[in-house]
Amino acid sequence: DIAMYAAKALPGTAALHYDEDMTATSVGAELQDAIRDEQLFLLFQPIVALDEGHRVLGAEALVRWNHPVHGTLAPDAFIPVAERTGLIVPLGRWVLRASLRQLAAWPAGTLLNINISARDLREPDFAGAVKALIDEYGVTPAQITLEITESMPVEPGDSFTVLDELRTLGVKLALDDFGTGSSPLSLLHDVPLDEVKLDRTFTQADPDERVSVAAGVAHLAEALKLHAVAEGVETPQQAERLRELGYQAAQGYHFARPLPAADFEALLPVEASA
Ligand code: C2E
Ligand code: MG
Ligand code: MG
Ligand code: MG
Repeated sequence: DIAMYAAKALPGTAALHYDEDMTATSVGAELQDAIRDEQLFLLFQPIVALDEGHRVLGAEALVRWNHPVHGTLAPDAFIPVAERTGLIVPLGRWVLRASLRQLAAWPAGTLLNINISARDLREPDFAGAVKALIDEYGVTPAQITLEITESMPVEPGDSFTVLDELRTLGVKLALDDFGTGSSPLSLLHDVPLDEVKLDRTFTQADPDERVSVAAGVAHLAEALKLHAVAEGVETPQQAERLRELGYQAAQGYHFARPLPAADFEALLPVEASA
């Protein structure tokens, strides 16, 4: 396990081979403790407007695990195990609560994107749990965008019910990592989406080679009246090209890395005084 953690914690290090079930069991047990003992924490990566002087619109909440032995772990080291063991549900509830508690402390117009799991959509009372947290912390539902990753696609049937319930609450829905998954385009039509997030593969692609994917997604978003956000913007050239293609917002290291709450808060526009 230690070798696995080290491999995943160091970017660029090749993943080691390990017994998947054994790892799932032991990491799962530790993760259960981590949720209970508040070893998880959130970073907030700013999302900026591309057409308004890069004004900060809000953030995406990104979870980290402050592991007692291995130090700070990125989600790639534990989200897959959480998905396999079902711990993604309590982990996701922790993330939602911590996110909304934080959002309540920020200016009223601040937007927050929160990643959820396809597994959440199979929990019959997921929308009810979201509503209870919204009420508890007194945030406005439209401040919240829940991100569903395209690599864990939603399935037809009951998951759509939960999505409709979330939409009815006034919460917004985004399809994350768009372009990397295998969702049929009909999904964009059938799921009540508000936003698509272009995966960084296409943001960062050589403009001569694959700009057509970024452009195609922009056209699709415009036709379906979806907010288009580009992920993984690392250069001013990428930011300018995406703006020209019609993306309204972006996030990426060019603007800011995922930040502790206080550092993010310092970037927010000062609240208008009466
Ligand atoms: P994501 O939702 O697509 O989040 C964006 C990821 O891209 C983040 O990685 C972020 O740090 C990284 N990133 C942002 N800008 C740049 C850039 O300019 N260049 C590069 N190379 N990377 C950039 P992170 O924080 O490691 O999260 C990885 C994934 O883990 C997320 O991808 C998301 O799918 C998942 N995840 C994170 N937090 C949560 C959570 O609370 N719940 C669930 N279910 N999944 C989460
Ligand atoms: Mg995301
Ligand atoms: Mg993404
Ligand atoms: Mg991604």
